Amino acid sequence: MADMQTELKKATGISMEAIAGLRAKIRGDIILPGDPQYEVARKVYNSMIDKHPALIIRCVDVADVSSAVDFGSQQGLEVAVRSGAHNGPGFGTVEGGLVIDLSRMKGIRINPEENTVRVEGGATLGDIDHATYPFGLAVPMGVLSTTGIGGLALTGGSGYLTRQYGLTIDNILSVDMVLADGCFVTADKEHNEDLFWAVRGGGGNFGIVTSFLLRANKVSMVYGGPMLWPMDDAADIISYWQELILKAPDELNGWFAFLTVPPVAPFPEMYQLQKMAAIIWCYNGPLDTAEEMFKPIRSFRQPAIDFTAPIPFPALQSMFDALYPPGLQWYWQADFFKHYDGEAIKLNVERNKEMPTIFSGTHIYPINGAAGRIGPVDTPWRFRDANFSQVTIAVDPSPNRNEGMIKWAKDYWSAIHPYSAGGAYLNFIMDEGTDRVKASYGDNYTRLAQIKARYDPNNFFHINQNIIPKV
Ligand SMILES: Cc1cc2nc3c(=O)[nH]c(=O)nc-3n(C[C@H](O)[C@H](O)[C@H](O)COP(=O)(O)OP(=O)(O)OC[C@H]3O[C@@H](n4cnc5c(N)ncnc54)[C@H](O)[C@@H]3O)c2cc1C
Repeated sequence: MADMQTELKKATGISMEAIAGLRAKIRGDIILPGDPQYEVARKVYNSMIDKHPALIIRCVDVADVSSAVDFGSQQGLEVAVRSGAHNGPGFGTVEGGLVIDLSRMKGIRINPEENTVRVEGGATLGDIDHATYPFGLAVPMGVLSTTGIGGLALTGGSGYLTRQYGLTIDNILSVDMVLADGCFVTADKEHNEDLFWAVRGGGGNFGIVTSFLLRANKVSMVYGGPMLWPMDDAADIISYWQELILKAPDELNGWFAFLTVPPVAPFPEMYQLQKMAAIIWCYNGPLDTAEEMFKPIRSFRQPAIDFTAPIPFPALQSMFDALYPPGLQWYWQADFFKHYDGEAIKLNVERNKEMPTIFSGTHIYPINGAAGRIGPVDTPWRFRDANFSQVTIAVDPSPNRNEGMIKWAKDYWSAIHPYSAGGAYLNFIMDEGTDRVKASYGDNYTRLAQIKARYDPNNFFHINQNIIPKV
């Protein structure tokens, strides 16, 4: 026992007495180095991030979150907050500090009369779709169902329904939060208005959101899925798609991808491992008009592979989960674009002909339509006039390829960035410093820094795309 105490103190700087005091307050799990679950519990989705926190508190309720915040503060620990642990730069963990893990807080309650859903801060997108789909409802979120609602909803949230119903932040009606001093508050249109503005894009800078009240929108069967074309057609397809998506009705969405065809069924063998251009469609309009809607698309250039068909929305949302399991190495680079001219299209095609691994590629998500009609200062998301959010992903199971794939992503970004609108979706970048955060918030950064100074003056919540408090 004496040995264990010394080891714990040495590894974490925290005494057994302090841990015993914490145990009396926490109903969830307290996981320490040496515990059987520690090795699994410390991991985040991106295996490029390999950190050893002093302890992990898996909270089960608001009281746990508040006690965890108090403990971190009293012990002078750096604190990382985690929902789905999907964050690219791995802000869901911290070396030698405290991880407040919300992944056991998955409570979801639908209000079908009001078309709203109350979601606890540790739910995944798949948890939410599972709960809303039987009611013919969905919240606009991202395209992988294993992502956490916490990081996604606090920073943006783009996906299949963005053009029709906006970003996830545009669908937040209220949040319950624990602040840096351990206090509990609600922020919505009537309460703590400044905080309510800030959390709809300002990330985890202002406190821990224990639950979100979200607007749920009409969605059931959609007409969607991927169409793929050979790389030789990529420039024509991207030009055609761009003009289409700039004018299309809101209920039609399609994100563009450069990818390598996975070497598995149902992809036809002749195309497996070929680099191709793809559009992953989601049409949430009347199903009996879908074939007609897609006729000109199919006749513009016959797709080599066409999986676009009626599909339940949650199946579309989780279609790529198996291709990107947790534990891969990830490196991201991103930009906003208003329009792709000939040179930017050429660069995108050329760079993706050199994709360094079969998991790597580039995605371009439309952020116009409903998301583009919100004002640039109505939420912290400044780039409402950008039409596209581009992300290049360098991904592989093996760390041995990291150097090459990171170089590919960085060189590609340096070449394409001059054609961009400036700034980037902060959930699609790595830890790239304050200038990049400022560029992404533009004029809204000053207001965010003032609100940060009011709610978190000591920058307690700083393991994130950090906004530095400034009065
Ligand atoms: C494979 C993959 C696909 C993706 N696809 C999309 C997509 O289609 N659309 C899209 O918009 N994004 C997408 N993303 C990006 C994703 O939105 C971000 O990675 C996001 O940070 C993940 O949220 P999380 O809760 O899982 O992450 P975490 O690592 O748990 O947290 C991320 C950040 O948010 C903070 N945070 C998390 N929960 C809370 C909370 N409850 N209160 C306060 N702060 C909190 C954390 O402190 C941390 O700074 C994707 C990411 C991956 C890896």
